[in-house]
Formats: sequence, structure tokens, C-alpha cells
Amino acid sequence: MAARVKPAHDEEGWQAAKHCGDMAYIGRMRPQDILSPVPAGLFCKPGNFHIDPVRPVERAVITHGHSDHARAGHGAVLATQETLDIMRLRYGENFAAATQAVRYGEEIRLGGVALKFHPAGHVLGSAQIAVSCKDICIVASGDYKDVRDPTCAPFEVVPCDVFITEATFGLPVFRHGNATDEVKRLLASVALFPERAHLVGAYSLGKAQRVIALIRETGYDAPIYLHGAVEKITNYYQTRGVALGELRAVRGTRKSELAGTITLAPPTATSDIWTRRFPDPVTTFASGWMRVRARARQRGVELPLVISDHADWDGLTATIAATGAGEIWVTHGQEDAVVHWCRTKGLAARPLDLVGYGDEEESETLAESEEA
Ligand SMILES: [Zn+2]
Ligand SMILES: [Zn+2]
Repeated sequence: MAARVKPAHDEEGWQAAKHCGDMAYIGRMRPQDILSPVPAGLFCKPGNFHIDPVRPVERAVITHGHSDHARAGHGAVLATQETLDIMRLRYGENFAAATQAVRYGEEIRLGGVALKFHPAGHVLGSAQIAVSCKDICIVASGDYKDVRDPTCAPFEVVPCDVFITEATFGLPVFRHGNATDEVKRLLASVALFPERAHLVGAYSLGKAQRVIALIRETGYDAPIYLHGAVEKITNYYQTRGVALGELRAVRGTRKSELAGTITLAPPTATSDIWTRRFPDPVTTFASGWMRVRARARQRGVELPLVISDHADWDGLTATIAATGAGEIWVTHGQEDAVVHWCRTKGLAARPLDLVGYGDEEESETLAESEEA
């Protein structure tokens, strides 16, 4: 794929340079002339937009609705309909001056570049963004996972010259295993302790809905309860056709009724005074970090469930190889290990050093949730 980056001395190259925005390219164009890290995020100079900017900008292209990627206050926002809706739900009607919805596979031209959104398999509406200029294609994948998730479109491998990958779980120790098996462990515990309530800590966008969908796939059809902070996004998933069965608010439910039930709540709520309304709760937490026993112990998690919406080590390395990209840019997480792996495979690789992106699996606080 790297061979597609041709020197621009030939006639074709110069012509391409002309319709690639108003930059005067002298000689060969490099990927970093198309996308480069700046304090506000990843900036595309020939297209004059930022991808997932962490500061307010004139034109933002957003990969998905998690709050470290999708922030309020931009001029124009380009994203999938779902991502725009999620931003509206979280930030209110005026989260941006203007919005434009893009479908997967649709091509958009911005200045001198062509943009195409492809499913990232991370949460509902999540997209990888392919940025093409001249004969170079860069894919900014945002956050992604390459395993099945009944609540969003499956990850698509997009052939490219430069692949920008996350590295949240970029160490060989992280192998997430099968999420359905983890859900079965939860249900076995529910069957074992019919007098206790099960509280599942799960990030309110994506993880909570995926856990519910996986529970339903096993045939469990009792009502599932929701913490107030999980309701809005979960209801939205249902309006988009994601079947989640009968859901009830915890609010207003008697303590005795909650025996033997399952409740989804933001992770921070499960160690909160809020849990006193449940009979003898079993605290669980659905996260890729639960592979690390010490983390589970630290948080007082009785039943850790290894369920992640990020690719694990095998997923990251398999995806990097599958894109055919000759150059890999690595961002938030374990950049060093992924960069090192790429180099051992003969790929050019470097950390992007973007700041402001956290790990939503760890960072969600109740401050963000509207109601207990
Ligand atoms: Zn995310
Ligand atoms: Zn992220």
C-alpha cells in the first residue's frame, strides 16, 4: 500500500496537487501534510477540519459520541446521524452551530480532500474516517473493536496507506475473550443468589446497551433495571431499532422487588450510597480492565466481567495487518508497545502524542450523569 504514495513529479501528480486544496505542494506530498496532530486534535489542513477536536474549532469531524471524542461548542459538526443525536442528548440542542449527518460509505468533499465514514464497531454510530487526498488514504479509526456487537454495525477493514489506531488495550496481556461467556457467568451468579440484586457497572454509552443485548441473546427475558444516568441513551438505542427487551427504572422501585434482578448503572454508582436501595447487592463491572485482577479488587468488584468495546491486543495487531497500511500512527493508550510491534513487522510507526483523550471505561463520573 505504501507504494501508492507516488512522487508528484509526474504530470498526474501535479494535476492532483491542484485540486487538492489551495496548498501549493512542491514535490511529493506526505501523509503529515494531510493530517497532523495539533493542540486541538488531529488537523486536516487541505480540508480545514479537525477530527475529534478537544477544543472548540470551526469545523469538526467526529468519530463517535464518547465525551472525550465528541465535545460541545464547535462551529460545524460532521458525523453520523447517531453520533449527532447522542451529542444532542448529552449537550442539548445547541451543541454546535451547524450539523451535517453522513451515512457509512457516503463520500463527502471538504476543501481538497475526500472523506468517507466506515463502521468502527465501537458503539452505535461509531465511524472510522477515511481521508483521501491525491493518492494517499489515511484512516482515522477513532476507537474500534473487531468483535461482534449486536448493538452496532460491525467493524469494517478499510485498506489504506496510513492507519491511525487507538492503543487502549495495546499490551499482549489484554485478551478479552468471549463477551457472551462473561454474560453467562453473570446469569449463573443471578441464578445462584436469587435473594440478592446484581449491579452491573457499565459505561452509559455503548457498554450498558451491549451487555443488555448479550443478556437477551441468552434467552433471559425478565425486566432489566436501569440507573437514571443510563436511561436516556438506552431509550435512544431502542428508537434506533436495537431490541433490548423490557427495561424499568430503578427509581421508585421497592427494595424487595429488586431481589434476583439485574441493574445496569454507571461504574461510579456501584460504589456509591445509591447501592443501599438494593438487597445485598453483588457488584460487577463490565470492562476490559477487569482482566487485571488488582483493578477489580481495588474497586471492590465482586464479579469482574471482561467485556470491552475496544479491540484487545490480538484485535489491534490483526486489524493493523489487515488494513495493508505501510505506516501506523498510534494514539491513546499503550502507544509504545503497539509502535514496537509494528516496527518488528517492518511497518513505519510512531506515537501521535495527542492529548485530551481518556479511556471512557475508566473516566465516566457521576458528574456526567444527569440523575441517580
Ligand atoms: Zn470511545
Ligand atoms: Zn477514545
